[in-house]
Amino acid sequence: MKSLGSIRRDFAPWNDPNAKPYIQFDNVTKKFGDFTAVNNLSLTIFEREFFALLGASGCGKSTLLRMLAGFEEPTAGRILLDGQDLRGIPPYRRPVNMMFQSYALFPHMTVEKNIAFGLKQEGMPKPDIEKRVADMLKLVKLEQFAKRKPHQLSGGQRQRVALARSVAKRPKVLLLDEPLGALDKKLREETQFELMDLQQELGLTFVVVTHDQEEAMTMADRIAIMDKGEVMQVATPPEVYEAPTSRFVAHFVGNVNMFEGKVAEQAANTTRITGPSGAQIVVENGGAAAKANADIVFAVRPEKIRVSSKKPADAVNALEGEVYDIAYLGDMTVYHVRLDDGQIVRASALNAARVTEDPLTWNDRAWVSFRPDAGVVLAR
Ligand code: ATP
Repeated sequence: MKSLGSIRRDFAPWNDPNAKPYIQFDNVTKKFGDFTAVNNLSLTIFEREFFALLGASGCGKSTLLRMLAGFEEPTAGRILLDGQDLRGIPPYRRPVNMMFQSYALFPHMTVEKNIAFGLKQEGMPKPDIEKRVADMLKLVKLEQFAKRKPHQLSGGQRQRVALARSVAKRPKVLLLDEPLGALDKKLREETQFELMDLQQELGLTFVVVTHDQEEAMTMADRIAIMDKGEVMQVATPPEVYEAPTSRFVAHFVGNVNMFEGKVAEQAANTTRITGPSGAQIVVENGGAAAKANADIVFAVRPEKIRVSSKKPADAVNALEGEVYDIAYLGDMTVYHVRLDDGQIVRASALNAARVTEDPLTWNDRAWVSFRPDAGVVLAR
C-alpha cells in the first residue's frame, strides 16, 4: 500500500530501519493480583515523537504510563529508555516527568512558586531558577499571571501552569495523562495546538494518554490503539483512519460501514464479494489474496460513500435502498440509508454548496455507491 504519510513532514523515524528507538516496551506484562492490566506488550517510541496511547477506560494505558514513570514496575518484561533498562530506577531518577490529569498545583503557592518548586528541590541556584521560571512563563504565555494563585486562574491557565512546571526541569520525556480532560471543548482544541507547538519548540518526547480519538488524531505523530491491555495497532493518524488493520480499530476511530460477504472471485488487485442477500461488490484488495469463499468485510468510511436518487451510471458498486434518517449538521449532512437487504449504511456529504442539487428526504428511494478503493478489506 502507498504510504499515507505522517503529519510532520520529514519526521518519520519509525520508517527508518536505522533509527534508534528511544523508549522500548519489551514484552511488558503488568498484573494486579489475578488481573492482567497490560498483556505482553511491545512498543517502540522515538526521540522527539508525540506519541498517543488511545483506548477506552480500563484498557491499561495509564498503567503503561505509570510504569514508564516508575510508579509501577512491570510483572514481566523490560522497559528501556535510550538503551537503559529502567527496572529498579526510582521515578525521581528517571529523565521522565509526568503531568497528571488533576494538575496537582499547590493551592497556596503563586504561579511562579509552583513552577519553581521542583527546581528548588533539586538545589538549583536561585538566579538560575529565576531565569528558568521566567522562560517557562513566557513559553506558556503566563507572564502577567506570575503572582497569582491557582484559584485566581481559569482552567486553561491552570493547565498551562502545570505544563510549565512539568517541563521546567527539562525532562527528556514528558508523560501526560489526559492532559486536557478538565477543559471545555473550545479550550481543548486551542490547547491541543499549543501543546504541539510547545513540544516542537522544546524538542521533547511526549507520551500522552487519552480516550479522545479526536485529540489523539490532532496531536500525535503516531497513535497506539489499545484494548484490554494489548496494542491493536500503532500507526500515524491517517493510517489509523484510512488503513485500520482490524475491525476493532476501524470501529474505534471514526464511523465506518462494514460490508460483509464471501469471496466470489479473485483477480490480481480486486476481489468480488457476494453479500448475504446476493448483492455483489468489487473491492480493491491491495494485492492480498483471500481464499475463495472466505468470509471478509469491506470497511468504508461514510464520507467515501455517495448517496443519490438515481443509480450513478459510472459506479462500480451501487446498492439500492431507502432513506431512513437524515441529519443536517451545517457543514455536512449525514444520511442513513436502509438497503434492501436490511443493512443500514451511513453516508456523509459535505455541504460545499448552499443548495443541494439532488435533494433527498425521508423514505425516498436512494442509491449508495462507492469506489473499489474506498475502503479496506478486513478478515471477519
Ligand atoms: P482510564 O482511562 O479509565 O484511566 P486506563 O486505560 O488508563 O483507563 P488503567 O488505569 O491503566 O486504565 O487500568 C487498567 C486496568 O487495571 C483497570 O481495569 C484497572 O481497574 C486495573 N488497575 C489499575 N491499577 C490497579 C491497581 N493498583 N490495583 C488493581 N487494579 C488496578
